[in-house]
Amino acid sequence: MTTRSFSGPLPPGATIGILGGGQLGRMLALAAARLGFKTHIFSDERESCGFYVATATTRAEYDDKAALAKFAAACDVITFEFENVPDTSAQFLAERVEVAPNPHALSMAQDRFLEKSFIAGLGVATAPFRNVISESDAEGAFRAIGGPAVLKTRTLGYDGKGQRIVSNPKDAARAFVELGSVPSILEKFVEFSFEASVVGARARDGAFAAYDPPRNEHESHILRRSTVPAPLEPSAREEAISIARRIADALDYVGILGVELFIGRRGEILVNEIAPRVHNSGHWTIEACAVSQFEQHIRAVAGWPLGSPQRHSDAMMENIIGAEVENWRALAGREAGLHIYGKRAVRPGRKMGHITRIMPIGSAP
Ligand code: AMP
Repeated sequence: MTTRSFSGPLPPGATIGILGGGQLGRMLALAAARLGFKTHIFSDERESCGFYVATATTRAEYDDKAALAKFAAACDVITFEFENVPDTSAQFLAERVEVAPNPHALSMAQDRFLEKSFIAGLGVATAPFRNVISESDAEGAFRAIGGPAVLKTRTLGYDGKGQRIVSNPKDAARAFVELGSVPSILEKFVEFSFEASVVGARARDGAFAAYDPPRNEHESHILRRSTVPAPLEPSAREEAISIARRIADALDYVGILGVELFIGRRGEILVNEIAPRVHNSGHWTIEACAVSQFEQHIRAVAGWPLGSPQRHSDAMMENIIGAEVENWRALAGREAGLHIYGKRAVRPGRKMGHITRIMPIGSAP
């Protein structure tokens, strides 16, 4: 099997395949449409909100080889919006058509131990961590690192799922069993001053463009609010962006990469994790930048030049979570950019939409 070689830049009218049909796929498809591209969304869920705005759709399991082969044949390039796609499926697609970001970046971001080891290997600071594959490992890791600490499953965790805060060795062993006795990492709980992120794009030729880092506030492990700019000194801002660039370069990355950061009490920067896709903390770019993170990602994967990440406003983006979407009438009355994802089922903790208020530069809270 030979990969159809990528002969970018893809012209308008070409088809961009997107693995995953959630709100990120939906907003990618909308941005792609604005540039004249067609999109084909592949998702394993019948009720994917991305399906409503894509040119073509496939509903199949992520490991259905026949469906993946048909999907590859129908697309000029494939990207993803969901990182828990089996990496073997991404590899299967990459043997047929260009996949961006590459499957190696995907597998690196899927496993917290590989991810943290890779980041630490670049000389970038992370919380101290240990691999845990047994109860006695969990106890030993806690004794080595000290507490409080967080036990996280190596794979399939997001929005705080698959995590427990632990405060002694026995607690760590118990949490390991509670999380299903699956490969995990124990990491030191970071007493950060605030959380921030870099949302940056890398193009095929190595060009890199990052948006201004927002400050991110979480509630129950779910992103509540991103405010830009984050209160970072200019040197810390530059360092945060250069960390993201180093990670993207090392992965030979193409597309938008999200790098989640803890900012310590003395301004030190630790990487929490990376997301090989457009990122919730970059949604504000739709209103506050000429080129949003979604358009930027489409530009990068289509082999177009990157757009400017410059922002013309300060911004505050808030997620609309669970039943909050039932307040859509009141939300629609606010002077802000409203996005409702059109998901049918409302569930607690489910991201149903977001709203972004822009304000003059220098006035963000
Ligand atoms: P994660 O799934 O790793 O992105 O974690 C979700 C959220 O949990 C983070 O954004 C933090 O708010 C919190 N968190 C995760 N790991 C740590 C840690 N080592 N120390 C403190 N808070 C953490």
